[in-house]
Amino acid sequence: MIEPSEGVTREPRIVHVALDVPIDRLFDYRLGADMQAPAGTRVLVPFGARETVGVVFGSATASDTPPERLRDVRRVFADLPPLPEHWRALVSFTADYYQRGVGEVAHAALPPRLRRAAPLALEPDAYALTEAGRAAAVSLPGRQKHRRALLEALAGQPWRAAADLPLATPAARRALHDLVAAGWIMPHARESAPCDAHPAPRHALNAEQQAALDAITGATGTFAPFLLHGITGSGKTEVYLRAAEATVRAGGSVLVLVPEIHLTPALESAFGATFPGETLATLHSGVAETERAIRFAHALTGRARVVLGTRLAVFTPLADLALVIVDEEHDTSFKQSEGVRYSARDLAVWRARDAHCPVVLGSATPSLESWHNAQTGRYRLLSMPQRARPGAKLPPVRLVDLRTEPMEDGLAVPLLQAIDATLARGEQALVFINRRGYAPVLACGACGWAAGCTRCAAHLVVHLPERVLRCHHCGLVAPVPRACAVCGNVDVVPFGRGTQRVEAALAARFPAARLLRIDSDSTRAQGRFAELAEDVREGRADILVGTQILAKGHDFPRVTLVGVLNADAALVAADYRAPERLFAQLEQVAGRAGRADRPGEVLVQTRRPDHPLYLALARHDYTRFAATLLDERRSAGFPPFVHEAVLRADAPELTDAVELLREALRAAPPRDAHVMVYEPVPMTLARLAERARAHVLVQSRSRRTLQAFLTAWREQVGHLRRRHDVRWHFDVDPLEF
Ligand SMILES: [Zn+2]
Ligand SMILES: [Zn+2]
Repeated sequence: MIEPSEGVTREPRIVHVALDVPIDRLFDYRLGADMQAPAGTRVLVPFGARETVGVVFGSATASDTPPERLRDVRRVFADLPPLPEHWRALVSFTADYYQRGVGEVAHAALPPRLRRAAPLALEPDAYALTEAGRAAAVSLPGRQKHRRALLEALAGQPWRAAADLPLATPAARRALHDLVAAGWIMPHARESAPCDAHPAPRHALNAEQQAALDAITGATGTFAPFLLHGITGSGKTEVYLRAAEATVRAGGSVLVLVPEIHLTPALESAFGATFPGETLATLHSGVAETERAIRFAHALTGRARVVLGTRLAVFTPLADLALVIVDEEHDTSFKQSEGVRYSARDLAVWRARDAHCPVVLGSATPSLESWHNAQTGRYRLLSMPQRARPGAKLPPVRLVDLRTEPMEDGLAVPLLQAIDATLARGEQALVFINRRGYAPVLACGACGWAAGCTRCAAHLVVHLPERVLRCHHCGLVAPVPRACAVCGNVDVVPFGRGTQRVEAALAARFPAARLLRIDSDSTRAQGRFAELAEDVREGRADILVGTQILAKGHDFPRVTLVGVLNADAALVAADYRAPERLFAQLEQVAGRAGRADRPGEVLVQTRRPDHPLYLALARHDYTRFAATLLDERRSAGFPPFVHEAVLRADAPELTDAVELLREALRAAPPRDAHVMVYEPVPMTLARLAERARAHVLVQSRSRRTLQAFLTAWREQVGHLRRRHDVRWHFDVDPLEF
């Protein structure tokens, strides 16, 4: 133990700590005289009967908490440099905007390993003397030579690299750990040195790519939001890579967000080839806990210069953030659907604003929100309307009218003929149906009964290979019943089609073809998707059947035919965002055809070949389609022309959820005409995992007005008396209704 020396203050010092509790405030704790915990430090504190890890958000000499109730910080974690001010600002903004507690957000923003009460065994690459260490160094006895040597090496320096410290022996390293534990020295986030990127062999940029790159690099050092609208195959990745390279060369770091990393292996390997070793940190939920925490730390200390990750990576505290990229910015997986319901895309834009740097939102089919921002001049539009590969064109789209064309087992004859011709040429066909399983419904032909989930208001889906019924909402698995549960009829039959049924039909029709089904069932095992994708690229499959997993940014050079089944279902969905999503999905999957030197073709089976969505798809005309949808949204008063939030409640019984919402409405603060608050209604999926769900919609044309109302309202809702089994939360900019 190192005794605190004279001159170190013995006054009780107070830290304000963010804790993962649903109470929206910081909690005061007393810091021991031998402890150092600047803002951003993780600490272990008692809360009730347990101990929990929190993050220090501030400190003071006095507390409003009565001294007899003030408790002590149990432990200070010095394994990482303090989380920087910009990270805390992001957490605070997220908490305010999404109506959550600062501590809940701080907790969610940390990798799980850093929420645990055990320090990360990480060798920091730099250290600095703390104030206590500076004071103590003066009076350290000469016989503690390792400690003295370390303190002297750090004295008079803002920080030093670990490699430059006298740490040659185990005793010296023990001394280092003792000094860190005593709070005399702490890990330091070193100022980053520029790192060399290793560019892979490159294609020359075409004029549009070059113009986009020039615009982005020309905006370095300023907040500049860009919407990069590039058709499928236009070479957006190359623009991202070069912009990232330029940024890293200039000493900055880069945050790249993608919807689902294992579905975009091409992007990951392109970045991996350019940014070697630790300079690239990939972050997603599939990375093992400790490794994820280490990569988070590397970004914090500036060792990792490029962070490539899914939505959770938006909370990575990169040193010297100088460029933000959000690929496939329209993808709804950027929105977190439970806990802190943030949009990583929107937070990415906020981060760029905070860091005074450019942000690039890229998509072939931008979200209407981003498109509207580009139309109104808030974002700068960069267009890449050509495929990057010279001569490559978007494939023609043929609408196959199911009212007149004959079908065989759900597949229209023209599609079957086109598959025949594709196989004869030795090329690959992709059949897209966005529904996994064998059939979405198992029903009785006699009385109309359909197998439903006992926990959700949803039908069970037939999965034939395993011979079970599955709920796609809660995961319930049930045996296939032998007879109707109502009338006893033994003739219960699967209705509708999923990937497994289409696969079976194709196998029967093309017995010689090698079939590959790619959906979340067939790719569940770790690394399985990459293997299947490799099979496709290497030509070890003739026909692919798959869901939207196949639609993401893959390059399958041998695919020249894309068939789309059952897209009409999304045209009648109640959700006003359904057409936007369907168009994005179809344009993405159509973009898989003919990406190399062979021309492609897309066939869409539909009973509504004159629907504006299909006509726009046939022309690959996103711009006009977006204009039409925006007109509809404007006249209907939907986003982006209004801002929305919902207060949701869930309970075992619907009446209890609705009752809480009614009470919340009665308690709502006074509001002016600029805030519209609707009546409680059950959600579209009214029951999920044995909880009934209902919500109240709030709209306003002014985001500021909406925020002010929500903040005041949340305070009131928090004071309501409610049954313990009724839960509530706000969802700002919701995607689920
Ligand atoms: Zn029946
Ligand atoms: Zn269910």
